[in-house]
This record gives sequence, C-alpha cells and structure tokens, in this order.
Amino acid sequence: MEVKPSAIEGRGLFTKVTLRPRQKIGEYEGERITQREGRRRAKTQKWIAIVEVNNGKSIDGAEETTGFRFINHSCTPNTFMRIIGERAEFYALHPIKAGTELTLDYGDSHHNGELPCSCQSTNCRRFI
Ligand SMILES: [Zn+2]
Repeated sequence: MEVKPSAIEGRGLFTKVTLRPRQKIGEYEGERITQREGRRRAKTQKWIAIVEVNNGKSIDGAEETTGFRFINHSCTPNTFMRIIGERAEFYALHPIKAGTELTLDYGDSHHNGELPCSCQSTNCRRFI
C-alpha cells in the first residue's frame, strides 16, 4: 500500500496489488486508549484518527505507520472495517484493482454528521 495525493481529500491510501473480495488488507495500529479519552481527544483534534473498538477501548492512530489513518471516507466504499475484540481489521468489499484508492464508510463518526463529504459518489450522503 502507499499514501498518495487523493482526489477525495488530502492524501489517501492506495493499494499496490489487486485485492480479492473479503481479502484482509491489514489492521489499524496506534496508541491504545479508553473510549472516554478517545472522545475527549476527538473534540480537540481537527484531524481525527481515532477508532472505537470493544471493551470500552479506542485506538488513536495519529502516529501509526501502516497508512490506514489516511483511508478516506466514501459513501460508496471499497473496503469495510471489522471490529474483533480490541482490534480493527480492514477487508476488501469487492475486487479492487492495483492502483485504486481504498475507501471506507466511516459510519457513525466522531464528526457527528457535521463534516461535508467530498467522496463524489452518486450515492453521497453529503455529510459524514
Ligand atoms: Zn459522500
């Protein structure tokens, strides 16, 4: 995978290889914190990289190096995230060609539906 300028927003995460449907792409890494601390941080950060997992825990990926913090939101994503215990794993939703930007539907995010969406998909919900 590589991080490159994105047509959606800032930099994005791109796959260098072709991915099969349901193929595991990787796992979110970062500082392990409580959900409470994660929500506190999300209020003060402009650029949020916090993922909530189970057991009242969160992962703050602000310093992570796998590149998943660069994955942009799309209302028509090509990946999905699965929370397994206190881990967050990324999988391909359908076949993805090498060179494609990886996108994720953030769902209920720390942005609380107040961030304008720029995914440009025809099914765009307009806000994240
Ligand atoms: Zn959108």
